[in-house]
Amino acid sequence: MADRPFIVGNWKMHGTRAMLSEARAIDRAAQRHMKVEVAIAPPYTLIHPIHREAGQIGVGAQNCHFADEGAHTGDISASMIADAGAKFVILGHSERREGHGETSEIVKAKVEAALKAGLRVILCCGETEATRDAGNAVPYVKDQITASLPKVDKAGDQLTIAYEPIWAIGTGKTATSADIQEMHAEIRSLLVELFGAEEGAGVRILYGGSVKPENAAQILGLPEVGGALVGGASLTADSFMSIALAAESSEA
Ligand code: PEP
Repeated sequence: MADRPFIVGNWKMHGTRAMLSEARAIDRAAQRHMKVEVAIAPPYTLIHPIHREAGQIGVGAQNCHFADEGAHTGDISASMIADAGAKFVILGHSERREGHGETSEIVKAKVEAALKAGLRVILCCGETEATRDAGNAVPYVKDQITASLPKVDKAGDQLTIAYEPIWAIGTGKTATSADIQEMHAEIRSLLVELFGAEEGAGVRILYGGSVKPENAAQILGLPEVGGALVGGASLTADSFMSIALAAESSEA
């Protein structure tokens, strides 16, 4: 059901087993909001427990290696996270691109590995504040997406794009409605160019960057916004599910 809004929590490096109660609460609430697809990307250590204990929501990872196995100390492969119960993986997050030197070439290899392992991919893209101020946000993001994506047969099912302006992540700042609309429309036309009219139209484009219960309705009501990638506000069931509720209302 790729036409449902997709609300994804990125728990980043937050959460021990004590957070399982929050995942269960999200799962129970998600059963009352079936018009929305709700998912969590917890740290690797919680993928399997959430897969077992929270059956309504999707569970995914925040990264994977591009190799299937080998001498890569501290890394994890796409097939390993799939084996743990992950259904998707977030790739190319700015905290990976900036903090771990991940180029778009590396991200592309990871996308290939993830699809081969049967995972859906949420590909992140987004510009710095300096790039936006220089008026280059749209070409920068389009180039980043083009360079990060391999050929994908069933893009509508396998791929989600998350537009996350870097300066909006964890800062409390959000892009203006006009800027979000412009960027999402540009990304849509790029997807149609890359994957054809049908598959390109089926890829959901999420917005991410300080999405909160207070601004969710406004952002999720914008054209071409197919959901949200939520960091800080996904760590409690109350705030995360308020965002899911806003997504459901934007569908009504
Ligand atoms: C994120 O890191 O993907 C994110 C959107 O974080 P936050 O919601 O905290 O800005």
